[in-house]
Amino acid sequence: MKFDPASKIQDLKQFGEYGDVNPSVTDSATFTFMQAKTMLDTFHGEAEGCFLYSRHWNPSNKYLADAMAAMEGTEAAWVTASGMGAITSAILQLCNAGDHIITSRTTYGGTFAFLHNYVKKFNIEVSFLDITDLKAVEAAIKPNTKIVYTETMTNPLLQISDIPALAEIAHKYGAKLMVDNTFTPMIVSPAQLGADIVVYSLTKFVNGKNDCVAGAICGSAEYIASLIDVNNGTAMLLGPVLDPFRSSSILKNIHTLHIRMMQHSKNAMYLAEKLTEVGLHVNYPGLKAHPGHNLLKSIMNEKFGFGGMISFDAGSAEKAAEVMEMMENEGVGYLAVSLGYFKTLFSNSGKSTSSEVPEEKQKEMGLAEGLVRFSVGLDSEIERTFEIMLRCLKATGLVSA
Ligand SMILES: *Cc1c(COP(=O)(O)O)cnc(C)c1O
Repeated sequence: MKFDPASKIQDLKQFGEYGDVNPSVTDSATFTFMQAKTMLDTFHGEAEGCFLYSRHWNPSNKYLADAMAAMEGTEAAWVTASGMGAITSAILQLCNAGDHIITSRTTYGGTFAFLHNYVKKFNIEVSFLDITDLKAVEAAIKPNTKIVYTETMTNPLLQISDIPALAEIAHKYGAKLMVDNTFTPMIVSPAQLGADIVVYSLTKFVNGKNDCVAGAICGSAEYIASLIDVNNGTAMLLGPVLDPFRSSSILKNIHTLHIRMMQHSKNAMYLAEKLTEVGLHVNYPGLKAHPGHNLLKSIMNEKFGFGGMISFDAGSAEKAAEVMEMMENEGVGYLAVSLGYFKTLFSNSGKSTSSEVPEEKQKEMGLAEGLVRFSVGLDSEIERTFEIMLRCLKATGLVSA
């Protein structure tokens, strides 16, 4: 039977202490014990179902982590205060000084900055390459390569990663495949395709409300336990823990994620087709012309579509600014970074979420200066939204009147 992340969420039975259908928020930093020995056992991770201190585990966080593990089909998960908290902890847990990482050269700007600048502190070496070039990935492997890192759908170019092939390469050389699935929850289940660790910014589609930042790390029970080990766990010792109130609110939003993803995808497909018809060069993995279209079709779960992200090149940063300002004024959505919101959000990637990438590197990876990235919203009348967009595109000369 095919893996269905939406059914996995539906099948969760998470009752609170009083039968509360939304488990109560555990508003406690610390937990009391009736016996001193149980406390010691909990410290050493040997007392099942006991909680010690909320930087380690909190029941509200456990509910959300269990939901994430169910959705990804991994043994376990842990939730973090941000997507970057998840990514940085997950990476540092696997690498020692002198180790090597291979990464897609197109990733979220914060991830790029962490791997390009920050891990130098630990003398960790990183190779940046075109992750769709599998030969280059294999050729870049070294004896000390610990991680092959990629995003299922890369930011902001929307390239598709061949997760099964990348897993095979990584495993052949004893490395782990770590995949950021932030753009494609429900649509792709990386752990089912061979990824060892799946990381998320829950801030985006998974929560979908833009009211908080949060993240998650999904993987084997052994790996998750290592992350929160009191002596050596990166998550335990660096402490990027999520607040239980937020865990509780995100958990409720996960139950509508499958419906939202379908609507984001449907609207994005409509806009991608219509904008192509009027002559724009649109980048959307749902279009047959997209280089990753067939690959995505071969790895995706059915029903959820090709995702909510589209982009086109406005030609220059100035033109991008002009059309974005007009679209905001006319009500298409908001000129804002981030994604996965119920309203459409758009930004010029090179000047915002990828501004950490130096300009010459942006050119090298094919990131055009005028690239406008859209996170398409849940609009009920996307035809009407398109008409407004078209007016803006004509007024700014991007589409001939
Ligand atoms: C936003 C984002 C992140 C970082 O997440 P935060 O919650 O902002 O820390 C990581 N990866 C991708 C693909 C993102 O879009």
